Amino acid sequence: MSTQLRVMDELNFEALGRTVIQTLPIGVVVFDRSLRIVEANAKATELIEPGQHIDQSLAKCTSPTGKLKIDWTAQLQKILSEGSSCNFDCVDVMSGKETRQTRIVCAAIKPTHTQTVPGGILLIEDITEKANLQKELAGAERLATIGKLASKVAHELNDPLDGILRYINLTARIVEQKQLDKPKEYLGRCREGLMRMVQIVSELLEFSRGIHASAKYVEIEQIVEDAIRAMEAKVEASNIQVFRNYAQGTTKIKSGNLFQVFCNLIKNAFDAMPDGGQLRISIHLAADNAAVVEFRDTGCGFPPEHAEAIFEPFFTTKDKGSGLGLAICKDIVERYSGHISAKNAPEGGSIFTVYLPSADNL
Ligand code: ADP
Repeated sequence: MSTQLRVMDELNFEALGRTVIQTLPIGVVVFDRSLRIVEANAKATELIEPGQHIDQSLAKCTSPTGKLKIDWTAQLQKILSEGSSCNFDCVDVMSGKETRQTRIVCAAIKPTHTQTVPGGILLIEDITEKANLQKELAGAERLATIGKLASKVAHELNDPLDGILRYINLTARIVEQKQLDKPKEYLGRCREGLMRMVQIVSELLEFSRGIHASAKYVEIEQIVEDAIRAMEAKVEASNIQVFRNYAQGTTKIKSGNLFQVFCNLIKNAFDAMPDGGQLRISIHLAADNAAVVEFRDTGCGFPPEHAEAIFEPFFTTKDKGSGLGLAICKDIVERYSGHISAKNAPEGGSIFTVYLPSADNL
């Protein structure tokens, strides 16, 4: 091979190397001993908008939540003086307006002709999607485990609760006949507490999808009325007025677990109005014959940034909340091919709307 050809090859190889580095999906930055940037590829430019010095360019890169400050100047100088390398597995980078999660590896470049390290190389990998996927997987696994556990516990509790409730009802009948006011009141309280337990158990069962509720066709207002009646004790104890506005001739629907959905929406509305207020429940038919059930309260409303999160399992702003209610409601409504939405009312309070396709449409 002639000398000229060899030189050409080397030149091409250098050009090829540059092209490869430029097109790499990982950011590559080469810097000298004074931390001045010598070369940065396209991905690095996209992620950290390199300026003159690498430590300054990395100033916006922090540990997640910004709790731990990384002293980039000290870290990089240490690598250069020791001829060593270091990894940062989880670094938040402000890229444009969004924060990306990255993995950063820095290493000193091995000296060839001299004894001193000529500079360093920094690789920056965008791992946002990978990290999100891992988070989702971890969440799904956690939910699956909780679901299994919940299902076991709930099944174990179901029978004894049922038995206790039956005996309380029997005793209540005797107490009623004998007109014993105090025991009647105490039994009422026991019943209330027990109903709460039954509710939690059924929520857990629902969450773990252990229940296949009966599915007979019922007038939708009947299910809403049953739910209001179930919450009667709360209505009486609170200073809340319930108004109904049911359009004529609304549709029949498979009862399934809708009762539970409406109970939960009413309970939440009450929780949002600890000092009293009004709850307006309306039912009307949409153009496509779907039943639209709306719960409009005059309570505290919710911060707009919570609008999606409130439907996530375990999201709660209450001291004793489980955060399961709305997640289960959403799950049930979606099994009817319907949907549920929430918004704040302009005049205050919130509006929860359940949209249920008519039985004919299903
Ligand atoms: P929990 O009631 O156990 O907190 P939910 O899933 O039923 O669980 O509700 C989640 C969160 O949604 C509540 O903690 C509350 O912050 C918010 N929320 C639900 N309903 C209302 C409402 N009617 N008004 C204001 N916020 C509400």
